[in-house]
Amino acid sequence: MAKILAVLYPDPVGGYPPDYARDEIPAIAGYPGGQTTPTPHTIDFTPGQLLGCVSGELGLRRFLEDRGDTYVVTSDKEAPDSTLDRELPDADVVISQPFWPAYLTPERIASAPRLRLAITAGIGSDHVDLPSAIAHGMTVAEVTYSNSISVSEHAVMQILTLVHNYMPAHDWVTAKKGWNIADSVSRAYDLEGMDVGVLGSGRIGQAVLRRLAPFDVTLHYSDMHRLPKEVEEELRLTWHPDARSLASSVDVLSIHTPLHPQTQNLFDEDLIGSMKRGSYIVNTARALIVDRDAVVRALNSGQLAGYAGDVWYPQPPPPDHPWRTMPYEAMTPHVSGSTLSAQARYAAGTREILECWFDGRPIRPEYLIVDGGGLAGTGARSYTVAG
Ligand code: NAD
Repeated sequence: MAKILAVLYPDPVGGYPPDYARDEIPAIAGYPGGQTTPTPHTIDFTPGQLLGCVSGELGLRRFLEDRGDTYVVTSDKEAPDSTLDRELPDADVVISQPFWPAYLTPERIASAPRLRLAITAGIGSDHVDLPSAIAHGMTVAEVTYSNSISVSEHAVMQILTLVHNYMPAHDWVTAKKGWNIADSVSRAYDLEGMDVGVLGSGRIGQAVLRRLAPFDVTLHYSDMHRLPKEVEEELRLTWHPDARSLASSVDVLSIHTPLHPQTQNLFDEDLIGSMKRGSYIVNTARALIVDRDAVVRALNSGQLAGYAGDVWYPQPPPPDHPWRTMPYEAMTPHVSGSTLSAQARYAAGTREILECWFDGRPIRPEYLIVDGGGLAGTGARSYTVAG
């Protein structure tokens, strides 16, 4: 029997379960392009429940305990001698979410001789040291597409939030009890007519482009895999061969690539400095794709008019992380991919991956990042490993 270790974010401060705002969520059967939503044999939760926190347990306890497996769920992952570190040495499977990542470092992987499967309940497996996972003979899988639309909606929201100067206007009327129209609008613009670009036109990037097209903007993108000509024509896209060409051509740039050696620290002082003065960056991909301090400097100097996103490093960030206090931001904690709608899909997808694993059936190729001794599936298409 297997030991499955899940590292999930803590329960709400008000206790579990929360009072839900709605009684149901829409049923989504498939994704753009024809991929189906997860297909486990069954689920033991009600879609719309809070599943991603410790008490939510991704809805997996009954399934795993009926099989005779051991299921350990914790949020304790950082302190020396954390529950993660104590439970890891005899774990067969680790489940983690990018919102509260169990950083599977080379040292942690080396401490876990039985570890064969790391599942990302969500999308983005950079919290796993992929070269070590490959060397260890592990499979790394994620629930591709489960929260791509959630994130694309969040990115569009953050673009509009920055350009329209929503956060300061909200503060004037609530926290500051004022009615300061001039203060609120002196940094407010329309998105209409602007040049807007995405770096990475995969599942999320393309969904962002599709959602922005009706705003009468000029759309740009860069990706090492160019989109089909019909899509470029339909959305009137300008393709750029690299991030520099894209960055210098747009007013708003939204980042949608995975974090891997080619993208780590890509938006450094130099690349941000090559953008038009007053550009906006939205980053719902991964924090380490941008230089943390270069972003702060660019906001203070006016090179950037705004920065928004929901990805930080590390997660959770320390209280003195400079993005908590920098100007012209519209930051959220890492929530865009963990709406209740998304949780239902990634919990079901996690169960689908576990069912395949236990039954010896192949995991869908689109769910695979590492398998068979190298990058596989989506991992082979969207990631690189150093060396
Ligand atoms: P995807 O694999 O469908 O698309 C990624 C795209 O990035 C691919 O088209 C790939 O070719 C492109 N790419 C990779 N490296 C590149 C490079 N150096 N230059 C240009 N393009 C490059 O993935 P997706 O589902 O669209 O997700 C993208 C990323 O978003 C994830 O890897 C994850 O890090 C992040 N994400 C964040 C959240 C969240 O909650 N904030 C949720 C889901 C995913």
